[in-house]
Amino acid sequence: MAAAAHVLVFPFPVQGHINCMLHFATALVGAGVHVTFLHTEHNLRRLGGRASASSPAGSPRLRFLSIPDGLPDDHRRSVADLLELYKSLAAEAMGPYRALLTPSPTTGSRAADVGVDPTGGFPPVTCLVADGLLPWAFHAAEELGVPAIAFRTASACSLLLFELGELPFPAGGDLDESVRGVPGMESLLRRRDLPSLCRRPNETDDVDPALRVLVKLSAHSGKARALILNTTASLEQSALAHIAPRMRDLFAVGPLHAMSPAASCSSLLREDDGCTAWLDCQADRSVVYASLGSLATISRDQFTELFSGLVAAGYPFLWVLRPDMVEASQDAALQEAARGAGGSKARIVAWAPQRDVLRHCAEGCFLTHAGWNSTLEAVVEGVPTVCWPFSADQQINSRFVGAVWRTGLDMKDVCNRAVVEKTVREAMESAEIRRSAQALAQQVRRDVAVGGSSATEFDRLVKFIKKLST
Ligand code: UDP
Repeated sequence: MAAAAHVLVFPFPVQGHINCMLHFATALVGAGVHVTFLHTEHNLRRLGGRASASSPAGSPRLRFLSIPDGLPDDHRRSVADLLELYKSLAAEAMGPYRALLTPSPTTGSRAADVGVDPTGGFPPVTCLVADGLLPWAFHAAEELGVPAIAFRTASACSLLLFELGELPFPAGGDLDESVRGVPGMESLLRRRDLPSLCRRPNETDDVDPALRVLVKLSAHSGKARALILNTTASLEQSALAHIAPRMRDLFAVGPLHAMSPAASCSSLLREDDGCTAWLDCQADRSVVYASLGSLATISRDQFTELFSGLVAAGYPFLWVLRPDMVEASQDAALQEAARGAGGSKARIVAWAPQRDVLRHCAEGCFLTHAGWNSTLEAVVEGVPTVCWPFSADQQINSRFVGAVWRTGLDMKDVCNRAVVEKTVREAMESAEIRRSAQALAQQVRRDVAVGGSSATEFDRLVKFIKKLST
């Protein structure tokens, strides 16, 4: 009899990666596959009961296990520490991770000496789907006879960029020069649309260590049995066509949160539960929702400019001001000051139920850092966006929003109060932007509906996983 497919889904342990890989896991469970979702101990503690509360209703096929990340519990794990987290996870998690994949001599099932009952009726792990940021996880799995598939949580176009030979760009070059080598994007992508780590500030400066890591990781994804991307042909046809021949197989199955809306809360911060009631009291399409994702940090000056611009634009606004978001500030005092200065038009929260906010009829536009999840969430709801990108793939995503899909505006390098005010007003009032946003939303919803490109790719992926599992 064929072994039941049991996939170990292992995200890099930060919010954006957890969110979309949990949607993926939920979709697999819906297709009859057993899934173990691997958190770090630190994150599973933060999630508490919410982790299992997010299992698809009545599904005994999804479970959550954890491994150590090697950092002390009071470590900030902020954006500046990602390389540290990356290294310490690889060093500390290997032992317990291998135990998860190793068949137990007595029961035949793969043992999991990781603090949770390993049996629970689960068959042995037959396939790994790991974040492309974790190449050591692929190597260990293949070594132990478990086939490994890579999952990249960023856009397809951003993955292509790290294969360009010309990185980093020379010091002092023209930032408006086109980036060569990304098919279909030659006339659209400029050097300024790439993350700043792709630029070398001075000729004598070393290449950014994070750039070295990203270039290396791009090469690794090509060696996995297949690559899964949270995107769709309607959004990135040309980049996908260019990536496909370089991979052993490629599955574009996004946007995953629209494929499997059942996965509910994976938020590491507790969501403010008054947001919906506040939105219910606002007029249709009247509210600006501002959030810079889970990692971006801003200076006090940037905080003041953004806040003043939002106030000057004159619309009610809901602003996510994470406790660790403004550098060198006393969080509580800052939140209090912002609340007071914003008056009755402002609602300031530490964390919002973002997908619910975006689909609320009061939502008028979304001021975002253009993280890939946030970008996709706005696309699916047809919400016009104003992008203020910071790092990673955000500059590329914001270029797509502003110049390719034309579903919003890209503030890119300038974010002062006057620009925020003007850009937010334009995004709120422009009928053309709203039309493009709604047309793209309809197309992408067709992609994830039965018979659409992402749904069809997902079915093909499930068959692929089941075949690997035999
Ligand atoms: N998010 C949320 N509430 C917030 C802010 C963000 O639920 O108040 C979620 C958002 O819906 C998205 C994720 O956090 O799924 C952020 O991922 P993204 O890729 O946009 O940015 P990152 O945090 O990785 O920079």
